[in-house]
Amino acid sequence: MDYLPIFLDVKGKKCLVVGGGDVSFRKTTLLLQAGAQVTIVSPVLNAEFATLAGIKHIAERFKTSHLEDHILVIAATDEEATNEAVSREARHRNMPVNVVDNPKLCSFIVPAILDRSPIVVAFSSGGASPVLIRMLRGKLETMIPQAYSQLASFSARFRGVVKTRILEPAKRRIFWENVFEGPIAEKIFSGDEAAAESMLLSMIEQESVGEQKPAGEVYLVGAGPGDPDLLTFKALRLMQKADVVLYDNLVSKPIVEMTRRDAERIFVGKMRGHHTLPQEDINELLVRLALEGKRVLRLKGGDPFIFGRGGEEIEKLAEHKINFQVVPGITAASGVSTYAGIPLTHRDYAQSCVFVTGHLKDNSMDLDWEMLARPKQTIVVYMGLQGLSMLCAQLIKHGLPVDTPAAIVQQGTTSNQRVVCGNLASLPDDPEVKTLHAPTLIIIGGVVSLRKKLAWFKPGQ
Ligand code: SAH
Repeated sequence: MDYLPIFLDVKGKKCLVVGGGDVSFRKTTLLLQAGAQVTIVSPVLNAEFATLAGIKHIAERFKTSHLEDHILVIAATDEEATNEAVSREARHRNMPVNVVDNPKLCSFIVPAILDRSPIVVAFSSGGASPVLIRMLRGKLETMIPQAYSQLASFSARFRGVVKTRILEPAKRRIFWENVFEGPIAEKIFSGDEAAAESMLLSMIEQESVGEQKPAGEVYLVGAGPGDPDLLTFKALRLMQKADVVLYDNLVSKPIVEMTRRDAERIFVGKMRGHHTLPQEDINELLVRLALEGKRVLRLKGGDPFIFGRGGEEIEKLAEHKINFQVVPGITAASGVSTYAGIPLTHRDYAQSCVFVTGHLKDNSMDLDWEMLARPKQTIVVYMGLQGLSMLCAQLIKHGLPVDTPAAIVQQGTTSNQRVVCGNLASLPDDPEVKTLHAPTLIIIGGVVSLRKKLAWFKPGQ
């Protein structure tokens, strides 16, 4: 190890920054965040400095006496001689010195940081590869939720009481692991600190009387339209945490593969020749698994609350007082249209956009046709392929021009994406439409004509 990593308490301490440019501004901001009193020595200051409160500015060139009374110095000037002088004089006084981008003149380096205060992670390659460090930082950034800040502060509040109530250190460690991995942490992440507090207190209670039973929970997670890169950070985190996964046809295979390797995976979708597991049975299964103490992931295509029956599933969970959280996903309308090169709204073509389900009930479609057949509106139809002819005929009957552009997108955002374009009159009889495979999304409106200019996604590449 070339450097000793330490965290320095600079609260209320005087720190000197030499230089008044962009880099100096960034270092000053960092020092201020850590509570330091900052003095800046520079004949001129960047305009940005005006936004910083509580800094002291000495409008002079650097001289040795400026170091007096300060506990550390950072030099960020573009004059080599000045930087060297700062380094030399500071070292002479055994004062920690950093010269930006010049490790030889430094006695300490400022690491890249990931700030989830009070948790702070520092990274350094000792100047060997700043780009690699930035990438590593980016990776951890996605894995450590912002709310770790709240989680750490929350646990700090209860450390004392837990210590007095759970005396055995090993038991205490397991207790905290359960807090950080279980429903209490999830409550903090979803902003409900009051619920987390009452759960923690009852967990302490149970622990003291020795009847600790793990509490199960359910994550209802939107997996997006197919491309795994469209998952949210939160979805990925919960996917890698769950003990059991319930998924159906709409969730693409690569996404299912991203769930925890040793998790039990249960397919609850439709298979050729088999019936779908009825919704009630899925609801029951979620409840049963959670009551067994499992962390259950219910993975849904797109967004769970958009034509996803997510509402019904959590209603059942709420009835049984099971903890759950819902993670929104990119719904097909948004993801699929974007990958097909069709913007859902556009100043010249559509000021509104409606999502409807084209699901046939008793061979008819119960939709508000007048509302749908308005000009300058995009209509996105989920589950509409079976009823395509009826859909187009009704829209024409209610006033949309026969040449209104329309598109059908098969398996959007995946390598199997295919787009068939036409208009309300031509699309139902287009022989290509017969060859499409589910799932498909229908998009109707002037915006479809923009596809010629805007399509960028090349499936299968
Ligand atoms: N909750 C989902 C929708 C479920 S309904 C969401 O928010 O996207 C199922 C319908 O969604 C399908 O019949 C199809 O119309 C549409 N759909 C979902 N994923 C799709 C995809 N990758 N490409 C095209 N249509 C898709």
